[in-house]
Parts: sequence; C-alpha cells; structure tokens
Amino acid sequence: MNAQVRPSSDPLTADELWQMRVDLAAAFRLAAAMDWHEAVGNHFSLAVSADGTKFLLNPKARHFSTIRASELLLLDSMDADTMKRPDAPDPSAWCIHGRIHASVPAARCVLHVHPPYGTALAALADPSIKPVDQNSARFYNRIATDLGYDGLADFHEEGERLVRVLGTKRHMMMGNHGVLVTGDSVAETFDDLYFLERAARTLVLAYSTGQPLNVMPDALAEKTARGWESYKDDAYAHFSALKASLDRTDPSYAT
Ligand SMILES: [Zn+2]
Repeated sequence: MNAQVRPSSDPLTADELWQMRVDLAAAFRLAAAMDWHEAVGNHFSLAVSADGTKFLLNPKARHFSTIRASELLLLDSMDADTMKRPDAPDPSAWCIHGRIHASVPAARCVLHVHPPYGTALAALADPSIKPVDQNSARFYNRIATDLGYDGLADFHEEGERLVRVLGTKRHMMMGNHGVLVTGDSVAETFDDLYFLERAARTLVLAYSTGQPLNVMPDALAEKTARGWESYKDDAYAHFSALKASLDRTDPSYAT
C-alpha cells in the first residue's frame, strides 16, 4: 500500500482519513522497531483539517509497537476540555502537539521522540546539527535549537514556548530532551526523522573520536541541503517500503 500524500480536500473523505490513520499507525510501529521511542511516552500527531487544528494523536501510555489505526485519538487543538475526556491524552502530548497544531498550520505531521543518538546530542552543551556529512548537511540552517528546557512539557506555557523556538523552522533539537520533526505528510516527516537520527549518530560517533570535526563551509552546506530537496519523492518510496515490511510481518497496525 502506498503512503498517503497530503490530501487536498477539506473535510477529508472517510477513505483519506483512514489512510492517514494507517500511515500514522505505521510510523509508530516503525519507530518502535528502530528504537526511537521511550517506554510508553513520546508522541506523533497528524493534522486532518485544512486549518491544522484537528489532529490524530496516540492514546496515553500505549506502547508504540501495539498501536492500531482505529485507536488513534482525534482531537481538536481549540477544545479547552480535551484533558477532561475519559480518553484524555498524555498531558505533555497535549501541551506540545496541541499548541503546535493550534499555532503552526503548516506543521501537518509532528513527530516527537527521544531517540538514542538525537538525545545524546541533545545532552551536549551545543546540541546543534553541524554539517559534517551529507545527512547532517540536509538540516543546515533548517533546524531550530532549544536551549531553554524547563522540565516535563506538561503545561500550556511550555508548549507555547516550544512553538516560539520552532519559529519558521520545520524541526527542532530539544536541548536536555530529544528531537521534534514536522512536515507535510507522515512519509516526508518520518523520512526527515530517519535522516536526523542518522545525522546525530554520525556526529556522536565523530565526537567520540576526540578528533576535530571537519565542518563544511556555509556555502557548501547550503548547496548540499538544497541538493536534498530534489530527492523529496524518495521519502514516499522509503515509507512505502517500510510499510510493506510491516505488512509482511504484522499488518495489525492497519486495523
Ligand atoms: Zn519528550
């Protein structure tokens, strides 16, 4: 089954909404397989209305490896009573994703995890993604860096603060915390998260040698980042191949 490109209709047809549920459920299963998740925390969301305010989110305290398309919560970021629902989401999921979907309509898909290498980099005094290879240069000047960690993000103001730090960037290195990646579709955003963790892995390994980094000059890093933009369709081929692997091993994500 092909990955869903961002639908253009609003409201979505029932089939489009179901395909978005299936793609997001696949992303949870794949993230668990790649060890990007943390226990039953972390959260992925996907806007399903044109204004971005209505979005899908994982249920509270559910392990990524068990999530099914039909179980994803459908929330409204403008609904102040959301946390009073019997199936209320995790408070930090609501504060981070609810605020981003309320304030940044362009962020259709929002993936937040504490992956091993991204989080190790986030623990450094300088958690920035320096352009030292093709993968890290993909993010040159395209990722915000938050150095204002203020404890568990389970209060409204912390969500608002993270929205301000994200600004016009699509992704964020969250100092003392983890990573946050946004994009137009689950496939594109998952692909960016994949390459961000790969870039972080390379940087952590390079730092671990104790040798000085060979950071690209600004012009070369920008040229490399722009080069990546012509490979955007690869994100869909990547995600479709990963979904096909799930279909072979455990297709229950799509139920
Ligand atoms: Zn977190």
